[in-house]
Amino acid sequence: MSTSGSTLMNAAVVEQFGQPYTLKQIARPRNPEGPDILVKVLAASYCHTDAVFAAGNLSQELPRIGCHEFAGEVVEVGPEVSRLSGLKVGDLVGVPGRAYHPCGKCYECTNPGKDAKGYSPYCPYAGNLGLTRDGGFQEYSLVDSRQVAPLPDGLAASQAAPLMCAGLTIWGSLHHERLQNAKRVVIVGAGGGLGHIGVQFAAYLGLEVLAIDAADQAIDIVRKIKSELGHTGEKIHVADARRDEVKIMRAIGQDTTGVPENEIGYDAVILLPESQRAFDMGMQLLRNHGTMLVVSFPKEKLQLREMLDFVVKRGVSVQVKTFPFEHIHQLVDLAHQGYGGKLVVDMGGEVYGLSK
Ligand SMILES: [Zn+2]
Ligand SMILES: [Zn+2]
Repeated sequence: MSTSGSTLMNAAVVEQFGQPYTLKQIARPRNPEGPDILVKVLAASYCHTDAVFAAGNLSQELPRIGCHEFAGEVVEVGPEVSRLSGLKVGDLVGVPGRAYHPCGKCYECTNPGKDAKGYSPYCPYAGNLGLTRDGGFQEYSLVDSRQVAPLPDGLAASQAAPLMCAGLTIWGSLHHERLQNAKRVVIVGAGGGLGHIGVQFAAYLGLEVLAIDAADQAIDIVRKIKSELGHTGEKIHVADARRDEVKIMRAIGQDTTGVPENEIGYDAVILLPESQRAFDMGMQLLRNHGTMLVVSFPKEKLQLREMLDFVVKRGVSVQVKTFPFEHIHQLVDLAHQGYGGKLVVDMGGEVYGLSK
């Protein structure tokens, strides 16, 4: 991170594990090569993994700039970009953490399912923004044009950023093959970053949803979503794990007259909190032969575009609380308190007049 003779930019850097981000000026990346693009970051969202990384529990090299879910504007393109993706300067893109420079040779890269040959988000040799490479908590970020998705018209950067990890993860879970025939699903942790997006996805996908959380502010978010969704919101049942009995919760939204005890309950439970109690409760909410899903990753990159289109078409809205870049420490503090919804650093997204 030499700064001599270069244009400087602001960045939030993990310099030591277990310490707050260091806000400092570093050299701005420039002249992207090959498939790379330079993105001016407009919104950068905080994920649980950022906390795990900053605590030193993923043991990567420092210094590192975190954030693997962000959105911004393409300001420079490498020589191979137009051939590979058609992206050009001025385009708005969403950037997920994986996969920077996949090897193109491994099993994942050469058997890529629906993705282009030679590219896989699962390549074990690819870099991960925010973990093995610098991510979005900086004004400009160098990324691989093959890892990004263009933003559909009307989707604000601050809405798009949280969809790149949280949104995509819950989208992948709801589309898991084991859930193909599910009609009634439980989301445990429904008011959190992934949960509140998942509740909307599930309801719009036509599923009956039991939305459970255990904190006032998170439950308020789910209630708000339910009321804003109008008719679609009737499919959402909000429950409070601190008060409501499992026996009653598992029967919500089901006509149980004459139904044997082991057939009462939900087809699937998507478990989001890392808690044994939540896990045990989830198991009790399942009907016989139901499926418990402990979050699942999306199968291919194509799902990213499908999800973004769905979001715009259905009007899914991410509950974001935004912070200016210089207040990123407040954002981190709030995240540690278990704040519901998503916390996002706004780095200029509002100037596009699209942010909610
Ligand atoms: Zn994440
Ligand atoms: Zn590979």
